[in-house]
Amino acid sequence: MSTTASPATEVARTRLNWGVPAYILFVAAAIVFAVLIPKTGYILNISLQATTYAIAVLGLTIVLGLCGQINLAQAAFFGLGAYAVGLGQTEHGLNFWICLMIGTSLAALFGALLGASTLRLGGHYLAMVTISFQQILTLILINWIPVTKGPDGVRAIPRPALLVDGSYYLGLCIAVLAGLGYLVWRLRDTRLGRAMRAVRDNELAAGVAGIDIYRTKVTAFALSAILGGIGGGLFAGGFAYVSPDQFSFAESVVFLTMALLGGVASPIGAVIGTGLLILIPEWLRFLKSIPGLYLAIYGAAVILIVLFMPDGIWGYLRGQLDRFKRARHSVKTGDALQLSGGGAGAETVLEVRKLSKHFGGLKAVDEVDLLIKRGGVHALIGPNGSGKTTTLNVLSGLYKATSGSVILNGQDITSLPPHARTKAGLGRTFQNIRLWRSMTALENVMVGAERPGNTAADDPAAVIARARAALAFVDLEHRADEVVAGFSYGHQRAVEIARALAGDPALLLLDEPGAGLNSSEKVELRNLLKRISARGLTILIIDHDMTLVSEVAQHITVLNFGRHIADGVSADVLQHPDVIAAYLGTAPDVAA
Ligand code: ADP
Ligand code: MG
Repeated sequence: MSTTASPATEVARTRLNWGVPAYILFVAAAIVFAVLIPKTGYILNISLQATTYAIAVLGLTIVLGLCGQINLAQAAFFGLGAYAVGLGQTEHGLNFWICLMIGTSLAALFGALLGASTLRLGGHYLAMVTISFQQILTLILINWIPVTKGPDGVRAIPRPALLVDGSYYLGLCIAVLAGLGYLVWRLRDTRLGRAMRAVRDNELAAGVAGIDIYRTKVTAFALSAILGGIGGGLFAGGFAYVSPDQFSFAESVVFLTMALLGGVASPIGAVIGTGLLILIPEWLRFLKSIPGLYLAIYGAAVILIVLFMPDGIWGYLRGQLDRFKRARHSVKTGDALQLSGGGAGAETVLEVRKLSKHFGGLKAVDEVDLLIKRGGVHALIGPNGSGKTTTLNVLSGLYKATSGSVILNGQDITSLPPHARTKAGLGRTFQNIRLWRSMTALENVMVGAERPGNTAADDPAAVIARARAALAFVDLEHRADEVVAGFSYGHQRAVEIARALAGDPALLLLDEPGAGLNSSEKVELRNLLKRISARGLTILIIDHDMTLVSEVAQHITVLNFGRHIADGVSADVLQHPDVIAAYLGTAPDVAA
């Protein structure tokens, strides 16, 4: 039995083996077809429009499909590319390719700037900012006449010397679309692609897993804009004429509709959606003699497709295909998870001094001290609402501390953002599970293994190996390739723990890992905690279950009303009169 390659990776490899040559063959055939069609006319124009638009729609596959960010300005980036190629050549005598590069760079720059607004804005507000950007560009194109030539547009835009012939130029567009489509398809399964999907599925968990959310979004916007710019530049060469109305807000909506119609999660969807939205009006052309009917049928067709295929046409087809796929079962790689526990540093892993978190007048955490020694399990207990989760949230950077300091492994992390604390060595799970629900168990845990600061993080093969080992450690390797949304509560908890373990943190924070588990799952959890601890990883655990706490924890800190009321060796703390009083609800000194 091989321990290096599981059947799942073998299946993926064989699929890739014939997949890439088949793809190249298909693209070559399309280019040959392009070269053979008439050099001018209807088919050529439709094909030129479809291929250049599809390149721009690929951008939405990245920013919206992978990263979950709305972009209603794709036509503006398309326009930047188109005007650069148009004006650069006709007004400034620059070479086509140089102009295309300038347009693409401009688009990237403005895309990154637009992405920068995600630092403070999300959802509807982000949509409004992208619309505003789109409107500003349209106004500039129309009104800055000396530079843009205004509403008249730019005429007689040349093509590159060897590709003056319309059908050769179409061949170029197809080749570019095919190449970029392939890259976007591969992007999904890269570290960046997984980071984008994690941000899309659960942003908070992404930050805590060590992903720089802001940088990821800015990158997604910039990449999306680059594709918009390339598409627009090729469009200008294709049609030799550009004018402001071709790059209006309405066109941005068309791009978005194309992406959603075909399926925003995949580049194949982008191509299908673009092709259909360009072809449907052509098919319905015969209806144009009856006013209104054409638009009504066109609109109804789009609405029906989106209504019955919420994941787009390709999403729907994939769903049908997946039903025929055999379940893939992986070979066990054995229990090979290595935990370094953050290395052999000082005796103290975490030192919290006078930590406070106030919500208005409510002192949720009030001057709490916490000292966690390397190795072993430290429990943080206290009645409901005593500030345990808030303490963890301040430790992992989701809340800013009102005052106090947090030192991890000798490093002051008090004012770092979540992903930087994770890099410094924190790993955690959440009281209410936060997995990336549309990703597989393996993908979830791979992002964990890609924690910046983990030694395996930069080597893709090591990341997969480590993620599999972490899943094996929680007895879930056989479900590695399943999407976690379908997992039971207990299995989801286990995946969340595996995700944190895969990052090889110095300190593992667990917020009520036993909540919602049945009694046999609790026994498994207890054994799991003991196995983690035995490998030298320090754990800070919050739990209500006193049996569990007394069995696994050597050290206990007790909170009540945000204040630290007892601390010490487990057995002593559980006998402490204040602790007993707090749990029985008779703590007159605090409750009064
Ligand atoms: P525990 O985890 O110990 O049950 P929490 O830390 O969740 O308790 O909550 C401590 C107190 O802080 C509670 O009174 C809770 O209502 C309050 N609290 C927690 N988060 C917030 C927040 N984001 N805004 C306002 N109050 C909060
Ligand atoms: Mg809590």
